Amino acid sequence: MNHPTMSDCLFCKIIAKEIPSTSVYEDADTYAFLDIKPVHPGHVLVVPKIHSRGLQDAQEEVLQHLMLTIRKVARAVTIALKIEGFNIEQNNGSVAGQVVPHLHFHIIPRYPNDGLKHWPGKDFQPEEAEKIAGEIRTAVSVFN
Ligand code: 5GP
Ligand code: ZN
Repeated sequence: MNHPTMSDCLFCKIIAKEIPSTSVYEDADTYAFLDIKPVHPGHVLVVPKIHSRGLQDAQEEVLQHLMLTIRKVARAVTIALKIEGFNIEQNNGSVAGQVVPHLHFHIIPRYPNDGLKHWPGKDFQPEEAEKIAGEIRTAVSVFN
């Protein structure tokens, strides 16, 4: 299947094989390849072949297929590297650390005491929680 590409997008060029990458899995709609600067060896990026900037502008069918590929490759990474766990990371927007604006999911193998830390949590006032939850409930109803 042919997919429209964005001419100035790094991952579209990787998908089109105009820029080399180390492939681990490919099908008609998705591609998985090694991150060029891995957190640990076996750090994989999974992308849809159809360009979207991030999660918010991706089509439903694209995401359905993409999530199945993420599961498939994560299972393979788990077996191949004999790891007990992994993180899925997906950054949206430069403020969130997204550097390449083509939707991608990181599969990051984890090891005991590997030094990686989760983000810190903050204490939360109940009234503040209810206010924010109400705002999100109102916003999310638009998408039902
Ligand atoms: P982001 O911060 O956008 O979620 O992650 C982008 C990821 O793409 C980074 O982990 C970075 O190492 C990886 N990356 C950037 N350029 C290339 C490249 O040319 N080839 C590969 N394989 N990975 C890349
Ligand atoms: Zn792209």
